[in-house]
Amino acid sequence: MSKALVFAEGRGETLKEASLEALGLASGLSTEVVALGIGPYAGKLSGFADRVLLVKDPRLSHPLAMPCARAFAEAFKKEGPDLAIISATPFGKEVAPLAGAMLGLPLMSDITEIKRDGSAFILTKPLYTGKVIGTYRIETHPLLFSVRPKSHPVPEPKKSTTTEEFSPPFQDADFTVSLVELAEKEAGDIDVAEADIIITGGRGMKGPENFGMLRELASVLSEKTGAKVAIGASRSAVDEGWIDHSHQVGQTGKIVSPGVYFAVGVSGAMQHLAGMRNSKIIIAINKDPDAPIFSVADFGVVDDLFKVVPELINRLKAG
Ligand code: FAD
Repeated sequence: MSKALVFAEGRGETLKEASLEALGLASGLSTEVVALGIGPYAGKLSGFADRVLLVKDPRLSHPLAMPCARAFAEAFKKEGPDLAIISATPFGKEVAPLAGAMLGLPLMSDITEIKRDGSAFILTKPLYTGKVIGTYRIETHPLLFSVRPKSHPVPEPKKSTTTEEFSPPFQDADFTVSLVELAEKEAGDIDVAEADIIITGGRGMKGPENFGMLRELASVLSEKTGAKVAIGASRSAVDEGWIDHSHQVGQTGKIVSPGVYFAVGVSGAMQHLAGMRNSKIIIAINKDPDAPIFSVADFGVVDDLFKVVPELINRLKAG
């Protein structure tokens, strides 16, 4: 009998897809899967966990890292799992080390693969900005780790789920940080961390107005494939003020691993590669045949992006 506890992340009615990926991973590793859900989105966990621990607390209508970590740590103490899993989303990256500190457990972060080997676990994770992949054998239990979003598929909802209310003993110190204001992103903007396809623009885009071309490509691709398509950006494009930082991919942006990654007018500096080199298929469009992006690309077009992208849009529209 093995048990996994998974932190399910969401807000309001919206459950993060990355949490479903973590639950699928947990189901493959453990006989019992328990999910911790905080708020109404926990209703969407049905079919993905054997049991859901539901925290209903008005102070968590917008979940903040500290009380969420406390809830997870208390759920851990109650359940005694041998595996504790948090998705390595930007929010999960705040919650996981806090929970580890509260439990006195070391954290293995940003894991891309894990399997059991007898009583041990074998884990892999990218190191040195993704240049090498480290493989670890861990004998100690319980194990706390965070899993990189998009490294595992979303499972089918097959489990019969029971839900029970859970009231963790919060401490006053858990609420010393409060939310002052929430600035919503533009409607329809898909987060690069959750996208199936990312179209990233770099300095080669020349200006913010030309990102409209990438958005048109995204909309055609999404219409034709049904995939979630997001717009990414290199740091140069963000620093120029052409696009918001939430789109930045790389070492100081988001780490992504979508099914398809388009790098348009991006040179492929190592800090950029650190965020996207684990994408399944990389397509680079760059007029410089020596651009380093071609060293990681599966497909490359050496040409002017202002010619290639409109042509791609026209061909996709024509089917
Ligand atoms: P450039 O390097 O200027 O490349 C532009 C490319 O566009 C060129 O290859 C050019 O050939 C091509 N191009 C130009 N015009 C056209 C055209 N008409 N058609 C086709 N191609 C064209 N960078 C990130 O992206 N993400 C990070 O998180 C990040 N973190 C960093 C952290 C640190 C500590 C440091 C020091 C740097 C970081 N950087 C990061 C910056 C990184 O080093 C590069 O400067 C940046 O990635 C370059 O962005 P770029 O490829 O858009 O621009």
